[in-house]
Amino acid sequence: MQRLVIASNNRGKIEELRELLAGSGFEPVAQGDLGVAEIEETGASFVENALLKARHAARATGLPALADDSGLCVDALGGEPGLHSARYAGTPTDPEANIDKLLAALAGRPTGQRTAHFHCVLVLLRRPEDPAPLIAEGLWHGRILEARRGRGGFGYDPVFFDPLLGQSAAELDARSKNRLSHRGQALALLRRRLSEL
Ligand code: IMP
Repeated sequence: MQRLVIASNNRGKIEELRELLAGSGFEPVAQGDLGVAEIEETGASFVENALLKARHAARATGLPALADDSGLCVDALGGEPGLHSARYAGTPTDPEANIDKLLAALAGRPTGQRTAHFHCVLVLLRRPEDPAPLIAEGLWHGRILEARRGRGGFGYDPVFFDPLLGQSAAELDARSKNRLSHRGQALALLRRRLSEL
């Protein structure tokens, strides 16, 4: 199996990617386990940030690297928290404070004005100087609940509701979430691209 460095230290995401990569021929290794520090996400878009992170991890390790950049975009907030999803309520990252801030920002908004989507971009560099990274995107549409529901997942999952399922992301088991989620969709696309090569 080819080791693939995952340019993230978010355990929730690494676990999701590990399940999603099962059977792909890649063995995911967290960059932190290889002594690679996180870099600042200075890009102006999800794809720029994912590329910055993947390049940094690939150069530091000499291995192929996979990075994701993702966030929650709320229509009524002009796409916020978007790129700022992880630190919406300030630094260091505090998922509970992020949710509280989001619920306050949407207080009083009727259901129709609570639409949102998770957005994920995955970038795979097959080698550190790969001039043609594989890029895949996934979107998961839903709306923001008025209060938390469910105990699973991470980040904004307790307040992200999928109206087709009638459940919050935190109420889904890991397998269902991986099938539906922005990251799951992006990874399915990336795996198709890889198999076409
Ligand atoms: P990143 O690590 O820069 O990609 O930041 C992503 C942030 O977006 C996370 O810290 C979460 O706040 C949020 N996010 C991304 N994907 C998910 C998800 O699947 N569930 C809940 N929150 C998510």
